[in-house]
Amino acid sequence: MDFSVFFAGTAGSIPTARRGLPAVLVRRGADRILFDCGEGTQRQLVATVGLSDLTDVFLTHFHADHWLGLPGMLKTFDLRGRERPLTIHGPPGLRNLLGLAFRLAGRVHFELELVELAAGDVIKRDGYRIAPVDVDHRGPALGYVLFEDQRPGVFDPEAATSLGLEPGPEFGRVQRGETIRGVAPEQVLGPPRPGRKLVLSGDTMPCDSLRIAAHGADLLIHEATFAEEERERARETGHSTAAQAAAVARDAEVTMLALIHVSTRHPLGLLRDEARAVFAQTVLPRDFDTIELPLPERGKPTLVRWDARAAGGPADGRADGAPDGLDDGRADGAPDGLDDGPADGAPDGLDDGPADGAPDGLDDGPADGAPDGLDDGPADGAPDGLDDGPADGAPDGLDDGPADGAPDGLDDGPADGAPDGLDDGPADGAPDGLDDGPADGAPDGLDDGPADGAPDGLDAASQSLGAEEPAVERAS
Ligand SMILES: [Zn+2]
Ligand SMILES: [Zn+2]
Repeated sequence: MDFSVFFAGTAGSIPTARRGLPAVLVRRGADRILFDCGEGTQRQLVATVGLSDLTDVFLTHFHADHWLGLPGMLKTFDLRGRERPLTIHGPPGLRNLLGLAFRLAGRVHFELELVELAAGDVIKRDGYRIAPVDVDHRGPALGYVLFEDQRPGVFDPEAATSLGLEPGPEFGRVQRGETIRGVAPEQVLGPPRPGRKLVLSGDTMPCDSLRIAAHGADLLIHEATFAEEERERARETGHSTAAQAAAVARDAEVTMLALIHVSTRHPLGLLRDEARAVFAQTVLPRDFDTIELPLPERGKPTLVRWDARAAGGPADGRADGAPDGLDDGRADGAPDGLDDGPADGAPDGLDDGPADGAPDGLDDGPADGAPDGLDDGPADGAPDGLDDGPADGAPDGLDDGPADGAPDGLDDGPADGAPDGLDDGPADGAPDGLDDGPADGAPDGLDDGPADGAPDGLDAASQSLGAEEPAVERAS
């Protein structure tokens, strides 16, 4: 039975050019189970493995980066004429949330069942079960354990023959549980073997419930929003550092750890190094990568890079040239498995494309020789197409004067210590120009401001509709 995990979105809070918002598609046999559905997820799937008719959807919590893609995806299923019912599972509050979403997006015609889960519930499917686990985020939040049913033990043909069974159909029947001429299955089969086990943390601080639930998992997919230097901030926002996630993986004795929900605040190489110092079998999937989960006797979980798969080549290993089996493929000349592509000469996984020689993911493309994404192209003899003349003294015509020490004309003054012209002021400690002001301590540009008091940028809308708003976050 094929069992694999497709990473449709691996960013946290804010999408980047190369990473979409959280969504993980689990494929087992013909089943397709989606965990979280950030904005843009359906497009991430359409562009890669296809938007298959999902078997189930599980939401970990209701911060906006984890579910906003769901209404649009369901509308697409509706437009395609889906008839099969769909069940969406999530923490308490699910019905209110989707009730609001459908008032905004319109109803669908297929049967939609909304199931609010609590720790201790078990959802049974053909050959596997899914169990929610309480995790420690802000507001109700669940992790999930997907575990396969036990498998029969290994068949011992010599024992069967010595007990008088004939090779052929009798062997098959006794393996399927029949007692034949007094020979019971347990006489010729070894002890039952455990199935495979996959655990997803959702957004959470390191927590014991997940550590226990993840014990012995083949794969733990854990969030890693921060690096160690921001351990305190991780605690404040209910997130984990990469090293903390790795400690959970180590303590739970999992086979492989995959880190997602990574922030653009930190170089991915730093997250990787900090995690691997604690738990060596750590990978950081990029969007569209897959982790294959073979049966244990057939091998260990394997990360298959999307570009390696597209080229039909091996994922990692021999052709890599590097000593680390986790390196991401032969076309990547760099030793860092986090590099985002073969043609990318830069060490930063946030770079937005192979032809981009610049280190900034905001750069706008290959033809742009300049470091500023706002430059308008190679035909401009000046570094910035908006330059207005020699009297400016600054390289960008939009600079607002000599006191502006920054290279980008959109910077709003000398006190702005940030490289992004869209940052809105000196008190904004966050790297994202979309942050809405100094009083906003959160990295998410969707937060609606300090005066709001509430964490949800959608609050205003939900209040106007008279609905009970879900908790949506600041730091995703
Ligand atoms: Zn999040
Ligand atoms: Zn969150």
